[in-house]
Amino acid sequence: MNAYIARMCTSFIDVPDKIAVAVYFAGCSLRCKDCQNPELWYRKNGVLRSLDEVKEKIDSHPLADSVVFLGGEPTDQVAFLTALCQQIVNKERVLYTGREFEELSTSLLEYLEMIICGPYRSDLHVGGWPASSNQRILTKKGVSWHLLNS
Ligand code: SF4
Repeated sequence: MNAYIARMCTSFIDVPDKIAVAVYFAGCSLRCKDCQNPELWYRKNGVLRSLDEVKEKIDSHPLADSVVFLGGEPTDQVAFLTALCQQIVNKERVLYTGREFEELSTSLLEYLEMIICGPYRSDLHVGGWPASSNQRILTKKGVSWHLLNS
């Protein structure tokens, strides 16, 4: 199984108080107005990577205790995303998505610990985390999801 990946790097800012491996998916069908990453709307701006290749890069990171999926829109390649999340152990799995929580499949939710969801809206920009006030942060405790912001 393969996915279009724009880049993978270390992130100190996308998961508060955590060092994360950031996996940027290439391609986004949502096209939010004033998107900050329009170059990631197109799959051609990424490279086709195999599941094993991406997992190996995550597993071999010497410091990261989290992995964060961003884009682009990771859920546009949901079969790959779900399979990857399923195979990651010993790292918190965090998803940034322009989709709403209610749109995500239960099979994906099962393998995530934190989600920042909703489209970026420049009219609701807050200059903080998350980027616009309509976006929700949810964390999982046991099997239930809880809203972290209001
Ligand atoms: S979901 Fe993210 S990458 Fe896609 S258009 Fe919206 S802000 Fe941009």
